[in-house]
Amino acid sequence: MAFRDRGIEIKTPEQIDLMRVAGRLVGETLELLRDAAAPGVTTQDLDTLAETHIRDHGGIPSFKGYSQPPFPATICASVNDEVVHGIPGPRALAEGDVVSIDCGAIVEGWHGDAAITVPIGEVADDVLELLRVTEESLWRGMAAARLGGRVTDISHAIETHVRAQGRYGILEDYTGHGIGTEMHMAPNVPNYGRRGRGPTIVEGLALAVEPMVTLGSKHTDLLDDEWTVATVDGSVAAHFEHTFTVTAQGAWVLTAVDGGEARLAELGVPFGGR
Ligand code: MG
Ligand code: MG
Repeated sequence: MAFRDRGIEIKTPEQIDLMRVAGRLVGETLELLRDAAAPGVTTQDLDTLAETHIRDHGGIPSFKGYSQPPFPATICASVNDEVVHGIPGPRALAEGDVVSIDCGAIVEGWHGDAAITVPIGEVADDVLELLRVTEESLWRGMAAARLGGRVTDISHAIETHVRAQGRYGILEDYTGHGIGTEMHMAPNVPNYGRRGRGPTIVEGLALAVEPMVTLGSKHTDLLDDEWTVATVDGSVAAHFEHTFTVTAQGAWVLTAVDGGEARLAELGVPFGGR
């Protein structure tokens, strides 16, 4: 795994405070979508809600127009065997589905990026367990980050948790990333690997951590729309993401509505928010 060490953007405390504004808006938008996702609701409906909420609160949807071909929507909505980058459309969510919703917003030039996977109605036990394992691995990953530690300390904690829970696929072709004045920046943050590698975690570094885990294969296909990433074996996937930073006081989850305070406390990690 080659790391993009160069061009790592180190933020001032004031700039991190601005990232918190963007991050909180993303977190609040996702909570709105979690409540709205239900049988019969289309992924386009969720996208419209997200765009309206972000713009009404002074943000700009960061995914819209991103890359080539330009991503056409505010959220990525990936259903069941789709892992990430699904394009919202007329598909109605059905009882037993899971939908992974990825959302990004820019406020005053600073980015927030986060994702949740939401069960629709009654969902199979193994799928619910996949969601729990993936979300917990995200928190364990962030909890492993310390000032003076290294980026793969996060990667290692994610992989270790997932592997201890059962036979799951962890995507290797997609990773977390640095974030700040752009959505995707150095360094990349893999969801597997040995600890003690990659760039040093310093105050002012902001990272988007995003485990992508499946009930089967770690291998994926890119669908004909040139965006949607789906598992090759049709197995169900989960994706959870937060943008976070480490201050001298502890960890601060910029895209969690409460800054991560409650969940970090459960993990014995000091809260570093302001
Ligand atoms: Mg994202
Ligand atoms: Mg991301």
